[in-house]
Amino acid sequence: MNRPQGICMAHRDRLRDPAYRLGIGNDLHRLAPGRQLILGGVRIPFEKGPVGHSDGDALAHAICDALLGAAALGDIGRHFPDTSPKWKNASSLLFLRHVRRLLDQAGYAILNIDSTIGLERPKVAPHIPRMQKKLAATLGLRPHQVSIKAKTGEGVDAVGRGEAVRADAIALIERSAKS
Ligand SMILES: [Zn+2]
Repeated sequence: MNRPQGICMAHRDRLRDPAYRLGIGNDLHRLAPGRQLILGGVRIPFEKGPVGHSDGDALAHAICDALLGAAALGDIGRHFPDTSPKWKNASSLLFLRHVRRLLDQAGYAILNIDSTIGLERPKVAPHIPRMQKKLAATLGLRPHQVSIKAKTGEGVDAVGRGEAVRADAIALIERSAKS
């Protein structure tokens, strides 16, 4: 009954501006002959690759959206419009680096990322350790903070028919001490 009001106010402020925030992202690109297949910044030898304005790195794009979403900073289309010549054939690692800066400026640190790639062929698993290293280095994280899993489409839907590559990602961020 007689709770000190200061504590209630502090609790209410924490609920309004929580220390931890989650974000999700997903992306899908059509696959076509004559394009390089790049996932997580790593080139994977294959006869087809994603159609897109940038390098079409679905994993990097899904992670960008998860991070932007966690900080409620909009989405990848808002920050990197595909109408801009600046991003034509750009490495999507540039997008990730920019997103990390936006989070820094907003006062957030990235705790971990989990993701799943959907691709029928070729096998992604052998390339995952390199993707983890590359994405972690780009985001200023350690490789074990970036989890990447892979699965096929079981022969159904656009992924299963080999027509598309898909990626889903989730990110956890924390308000950094200085903010
Ligand atoms: Zn994309």
